[in-house]
Amino acid sequence: MKIKTLALLFGFSTLPVMAGDIAMVIHGGAGTILKSKLTPEKEREIRSKLEESVKKGYAVLKNGGASVDAVIAAIQNMEDSPLFNAGRGAVYTWDAVHELDASIMDGKTHNAGAVAGVSRIKSPIEAARTVMDKSVHVMLSGKGAEQFAENQGLEMVDNSYFDTERRRKALDKVKQALISEDHAMQFTQAMTDYKFGTVGAVALDKEGNLAAGTSTGGMTAKRWGRIGDSPIIGAGTYADNGSCAVSATGHGEYFIRYHVAADICARVKYQGKNIVDAGDEVLNKELKQVGGDGGVIIMDSKGNIATPFNTPGMYRASVDTDGKVTVKIFNDE
Ligand code: ASP
Repeated sequence: MKIKTLALLFGFSTLPVMAGDIAMVIHGGAGTILKSKLTPEKEREIRSKLEESVKKGYAVLKNGGASVDAVIAAIQNMEDSPLFNAGRGAVYTWDAVHELDASIMDGKTHNAGAVAGVSRIKSPIEAARTVMDKSVHVMLSGKGAEQFAENQGLEMVDNSYFDTERRRKALDKVKQALISEDHAMQFTQAMTDYKFGTVGAVALDKEGNLAAGTSTGGMTAKRWGRIGDSPIIGAGTYADNGSCAVSATGHGEYFIRYHVAADICARVKYQGKNIVDAGDEVLNKELKQVGGDGGVIIMDSKGNIATPFNTPGMYRASVDTDGKVTVKIFNDE
């Protein structure tokens, strides 16, 4: 007998909430993140911002909110922090400006939204969500995306809002390396050495709906309007209630070519793999053997979590279905 019928029969006015499991996982980028390169203060600062961000997303779920809203809450908290390569603190392009990419996907409806190469929208993840909810399109880019965001009443900022001293120094360093040697070889090397810093989140709400989102400044010294995997549905972001939800970080060109996020979910869906095996196969076999550096966060429809990466570290944090909070940076913890 349905609960509602029972409620009517026995006359209790407030229906018991049949809450399903909720869970949240975030990343703040993967790459050459070594303990020796982080001061204890910096490490503490990063861990506490990761914890704060995952808890912001989890609080939305706890209050009965939708997974899409939880993803937005967690990502915006990281976009606002200069610690990550997204929003304020985004890396610089070759021309010393910031061009941001973001995407979001709803696992229930397969709706998705993305923005690419935007330079004046304060919260690219919010813009991606607005594209999903308020337009008939999936991806908008550059000036058009900005015009759309402005018309929708989103907060616009001057490009210098995203400036940080640290990222400016990184640009100078990368440019120096690029100018001095063979460009293509050096670019690949610079990217390999670079600690990526993109942010992403995946959530499962009490209705059993998954969502995933990713936001980034891309790669230092990118030029010619280069777009990475982060705003590409199936590459950097994917969500499907029937399999899993994924947000990626890493060397975007590989993640696009190997269609990483969708490939992981396809293995779960069609091969019946669990998310640990599916993620491990794609990250540590497919990508690793071709030199595609990076990592992903994955969640299945039961709220199980996997965070595989093939770099020395990945900033990550989660709240599992038991409410246990975990924050990790290195690969040996
Ligand atoms: N995947 C991003 C890109 O290629 C970079 C990152 O993850 O940090 O644009």
